[in-house]
Amino acid sequence: MVQIINTVDANGVDRHDAEAVNKAENRSLYASRVKIHPKAAAGTFRRLKWALVFVLLGIYYIAPWLRWDRPGTAPDQAILIDLANRRFYFFFIEIWPQEFYYVAGLLIMAGVGLFLVTSLFGRAWCGYACPQTVWTDLYIWVESKIEGDRNARIKLDKSPPSLSKFTKRATKMAIWLAIAIATGGFWVFYFADAPTLFMELVTGEAASVAYFTIAILTATTFTFAGFMREQVCTYMCPWPRIQGAMLDEESLIVTYNAWRGEPRMAGRKKAEAQGLKVGDCVDCNACVAVCPMGIDIRDGNQLECINCALCIDACDAVMEKVGKPKGLINYTTSTLYAANVAGKNEHWDWKHLLRPRTAIYSVMWAAVGVGMLVTLVNRSQLDVNIVPDRNPIFVTLSDGSIRNGYTVKILNKKQEQRNFRLSIEDLPGATMEMVGEQSSPRSTIEIAVDPDKLRAVKIYVATQDQKVITEDKTDFTFKIEELNLSGAAETAVEQTVFHAPGE
Ligand code: SF4
Ligand code: SF4
Repeated sequence: MVQIINTVDANGVDRHDAEAVNKAENRSLYASRVKIHPKAAAGTFRRLKWALVFVLLGIYYIAPWLRWDRPGTAPDQAILIDLANRRFYFFFIEIWPQEFYYVAGLLIMAGVGLFLVTSLFGRAWCGYACPQTVWTDLYIWVESKIEGDRNARIKLDKSPPSLSKFTKRATKMAIWLAIAIATGGFWVFYFADAPTLFMELVTGEAASVAYFTIAILTATTFTFAGFMREQVCTYMCPWPRIQGAMLDEESLIVTYNAWRGEPRMAGRKKAEAQGLKVGDCVDCNACVAVCPMGIDIRDGNQLECINCALCIDACDAVMEKVGKPKGLINYTTSTLYAANVAGKNEHWDWKHLLRPRTAIYSVMWAAVGVGMLVTLVNRSQLDVNIVPDRNPIFVTLSDGSIRNGYTVKILNKKQEQRNFRLSIEDLPGATMEMVGEQSSPRSTIEIAVDPDKLRAVKIYVATQDQKVITEDKTDFTFKIEELNLSGAAETAVEQTVFHAPGE
């Protein structure tokens, strides 16, 4: 159960009661957006966020250009979602459509990983790694370089139209647009050979779907990161609502330590001289000015807060200036907060990370990961599928034998041609013929399969064995053995059924 802390503000309004907040602030649910001008923050968490922006954008823009030497005709792009051939390449791993469970496994790991991170560190994903946050950070950085920091931007917004204002705005928009085009442009490189597609895009020869995808992603990046920003997190994304179920009283969330900060006061020296009780908060609003969500962390934990910790950086700098210990705003847990309110001087330590919820998430995550790894290492390079004919299920031949038809599908996942021997086990007197081949019925058939291809052949199986003919159906096995060996030979056995008239 989540223990909600510090939700009642200085005016006695519970910030978790939306109706009470709206009433107190005379606010409509449909009020128009108040534009936020986040001030540039400096400090540990800002540096961490920049490092992540650099790494994540670096991965996004560089990954499609990485090459990986694959044998045969396979593409040499390290990460490629080859929709045309229904294949996913990730360095040495090649995933076929019938192995979609690996993708499902990755999605499960991503989901459980997100639950784990949220239960440990609150909305760390939102604050540090979500594409909306990363691109918005980049857009705000561009904006501040051209229009100046918070105060300059507010002033520019209020200023009348002028050539200087127009030039700044146009330059900012042009750079935003370039970033948006690059974002959409690099996305499509994950779906085709990047250098080839790049040349096709430049020369206007790429498929229209590529231009369409780039246009959509350009528009969404430009709009979401440039204009909608915090509205995407607050109104469009479902995660803020879901995360409530992921948090518990030991989750680390960005918190204003009201037990230390209140009563807040700007002229604290004067108040102290008068013998008034004052908290550590000097009411400078530095934490509010840097907040990209435009909220005041001192109002308690709020749905809008993405746990980016920029308010911690801002407040730590203020605390340093006024000679108070850092951490008036910090990452803390509800348990620790309650202990401090009760006057116990408790501190967070690593043992708080281990609790039933996080242990279960970790075990689930590791189990899916290990399971996928084991199946990936041991997976076969040969897949066989047998489909018996349904209509008719058997045919009586002129010599009295009974014949069944089967479609045998052999998938060769290697980048070299492979030859296989098809034989039958547990069906007395059985012979085979391959449709389209000029040869007499026999007990084995050799089938060549091209590199990285699926071959489907039609096989007729016939028998005159009385025991088989007098049964409605007899279970038997197709055995497929590899003949040319480059490495370990693979064998597959597939059970199927032989139908007969019966008695
Ligand atoms: S309140 Fe603090 S942690 Fe929350 S979004 Fe604002 S700056 Fe980030
Ligand atoms: S930055 Fe710190 S001192 Fe300044 S208003 Fe925020 S909590 Fe108070």
